[in-house]
Amino acid sequence: MIDRYWIAFFAAFSCVVGVFDASAGDADPLYRVCVAQCEKTGCVGDRCFPHCKFPSDGASLNRPWYMQEPLYLQWKQWDCQSDCRYDCMVDREKDRAALGHGPVKYHGKWPFKRVYGIQEPVSVALSALNLAMHFHGWLSFFILLYYKLPLKQDKKPYYDYTGLWHIYGLLSMNSWFWSAVFHSRDVDVTEKLDYSSAVALLGYSLILAILRSFTVRDEAARVMVAAPLIAFVTTHILYLNNFKLDYGWNMKVCVVMAVAQLLIWAIWAGVSRHPSRWKLWVVVVGGALAMFLEIYDFPPYEGFVDAHALWHASTIPLTYIWWSFIKDDAELRTSNLFKKVK
Ligand SMILES: [Zn+2]
Repeated sequence: MIDRYWIAFFAAFSCVVGVFDASAGDADPLYRVCVAQCEKTGCVGDRCFPHCKFPSDGASLNRPWYMQEPLYLQWKQWDCQSDCRYDCMVDREKDRAALGHGPVKYHGKWPFKRVYGIQEPVSVALSALNLAMHFHGWLSFFILLYYKLPLKQDKKPYYDYTGLWHIYGLLSMNSWFWSAVFHSRDVDVTEKLDYSSAVALLGYSLILAILRSFTVRDEAARVMVAAPLIAFVTTHILYLNNFKLDYGWNMKVCVVMAVAQLLIWAIWAGVSRHPSRWKLWVVVVGGALAMFLEIYDFPPYEGFVDAHALWHASTIPLTYIWWSFIKDDAELRTSNLFKKVK
């Protein structure tokens, strides 16, 4: 008798854990049965996916190297799983809407409508625009420093944060590239690459905020500031990739790093009386408002625009103002340092 209670208890407990572990949508048994069926048969209703037909023999021997197992099979498996999940989700959402229920998340994501196989077209387009914005900002920064402002005897710029901003530009563009890839196809690898590059960028920009606002110019002091932060961010990225992609914990780490740098810039803008401090204010206030979009997310409007997409939209003008501040800072410091040398 007691045994039976235990079994009932464990069944109930594992059910609760299962629900906590997944989003509401993919915890739904109807959805789960649909996906399991689809991965076996390759069909949802009368729609069938060619990706779900796996060769049982070594038929891939004559194919070029990039189409050989296991890489090719793995992609196929991902495509199959992704197609099955999508079609089962669309079916479930239709049934739910007919019953008057609102959308729920599946595997941590809202139900988006695909366009040409792209999962979140709006976020992809906005990520690409962000990338373009960073490229434009970085390029004009480069031209300003090397072609418009005076250079030292050794042809190096006077601005003592040049190298740091170059790395910042590269990390930003890298991060937006993987963001675009991730939003077009959400699989394990693309997700990890997107999260990792975003965390790397956030950690690096925190270092940069400290180095610039405290005017840390000495190489040894710069290393002392950067080393512990780089160690922490590296550990965090390794943890996400190799141990557990813990969204809650990652969100906390990112929010703390973001709030820290926004505070640093805000205080510095007030204290330093930098002539372009209004640009800092705009970026800080805008960045803080944008962060709320990222934290309080809502389901996509018409299956396209959700809070995350709006967040990607808000960073486009902020990026423009941000690079414009960086260029102002380069100009200001160059003229100060140039005068000192003269
Ligand atoms: Zn994104």
